[in-house]
Amino acid sequence: MAEVMKKKRNKDTRPNLGNSIYSLTHEELQTWLENHGEPKFRATQIFEWLYQKRVEYFEEMTNLSKGLRDKLNESFTITTLETVVQQKSQDGRTMKFLFEMNDGYTIETVLMKHDYGYSVCVTSQVGCRIGCTFCASSIGGLKRQLESGEIVSQVIKVQKALDEQGERVSSIVLMGIGEPFDNYEEIIAFLRTINHNKGINIGARHITLSTSGIVPRIYDFADEKTQVNFAVSLHAVTNERRSKLMPINKAYPLEKLLPSVKYYNETTGRRVTFEYGLLGGENDSPDEARALAKVIRDYNLNIHVNLIPVNFVPERDYVRTPRSQIFEFERTLKEEGINVTIRREQGHDIDAACGQLRAKERKKETR
Ligand code: SAH
Repeated sequence: MAEVMKKKRNKDTRPNLGNSIYSLTHEELQTWLENHGEPKFRATQIFEWLYQKRVEYFEEMTNLSKGLRDKLNESFTITTLETVVQQKSQDGRTMKFLFEMNDGYTIETVLMKHDYGYSVCVTSQVGCRIGCTFCASSIGGLKRQLESGEIVSQVIKVQKALDEQGERVSSIVLMGIGEPFDNYEEIIAFLRTINHNKGINIGARHITLSTSGIVPRIYDFADEKTQVNFAVSLHAVTNERRSKLMPINKAYPLEKLLPSVKYYNETTGRRVTFEYGLLGGENDSPDEARALAKVIRDYNLNIHVNLIPVNFVPERDYVRTPRSQIFEFERTLKEEGINVTIRREQGHDIDAACGQLRAKERKKETR
């Protein structure tokens, strides 16, 4: 992970709305300190305050000089997110947070309790321009990119809620609103901070990034050689069907996508997950399961298939595959020698399940 972000971020394309200090990687904070006449080891002290003690004010950073605290105060804020709604599912295992940002846009973040610990599903953009026909997140299109600090802050906010119970976030999935590879540089900065041993220190193998299949970024991400778990939303194995479900397939059809997945396997030595959403009557027959297995074999890919029963989105009229047919699909893949699981579902009652999150603009005056 130390290798991540060989490329410098282009500051000109960043919205820089709230100037959150969470947007600075450890390395960038060191540079900032040096430019302000401070020794760079202070970056580690500041990281400890921000990510381990999770303070909310620079004044609390008592091992820094008053002068440095003042400089930090003038240059940055800590968080730029305000929690406006916090909802818990009936079974108590899922919590959804609605955060409002400086410009009035809101984003959603989901906390899930599993047997192995707590995972946080973070949002990477306000809205999404990928336009998948089964997903709520792209209704309304892309509003703006998130800065890395706004993504980091989602994790800190959720961790602070868990602090009250003495619990810790153990894994992160980049599967909230947005397409992470459409906001690549900020995502890489986010990964660095979240993974940094003086930052939140979540191991790369406990982080999962999912993409709809932006092929050039798959090659870039492979070259970063992180240990992050990598997932591709496949959903169909013919161009005709996949283009219908996911317009991105017109730009990056299967004959471009699948070799990039192969490259990822070979470059990182790691297995890739294919997310395959079962949409009733669309892509869920045993024949389709066999076609999926064939594609994986033909391209000689190292794949784990994760089946996702489609979740209800009011504006989308897909129907769920019956339970028995989901198991049949799974069984068929297994018979074909494919490694497969069915995604555990939670959070339906608070619209926090896959594909149900959406971006909203709140009018300040109605608050
Ligand atoms: N943009 C990224 C990250 C989103 S991750 C991507 O496309 O991979 C969320 C996962 O949930 C993706 O696999 C997405 O295709 C899937 N999803 C979207 N809408 C869904 C729905 N209504 N039901 C089930 N899964 C859905």
